[in-house]
Amino acid sequence: MSFTVDRCSACLHAVYPARYLCPRCRGSDWHPVTVRSGTLLQFTHMPGKRAGDDHLGTLRTDDGPLVIARLTGKAHDKGQRYALRLDGDALIAAPESSAA
Ligand SMILES: [Zn+2]
Repeated sequence: MSFTVDRCSACLHAVYPARYLCPRCRGSDWHPVTVRSGTLLQFTHMPGKRAGDDHLGTLRTDDGPLVIARLTGKAHDKGQRYALRLDGDALIAAPESSAA
């Protein structure tokens, strides 16, 4: 399932999570935009999870908003590109090189 953020119809500023008023222009008309990828800013190891499913990362989406996602794969680096998708309620980020 694809992941969406809300884009202001007036000024095109994107936000996540959803807001009532745009922080840039105070507009209140939004439309969803599919976000397919982002860049890893920070990540942390979660002890006790199985390998390949044991990292949580903060990513800057290509549309601007920051998101926190579960990282798949074993090697992670700041600046690395990830493909984003929803799995139920969980946001999953897979390294773009292996997601292609
Ligand atoms: Zn706006």
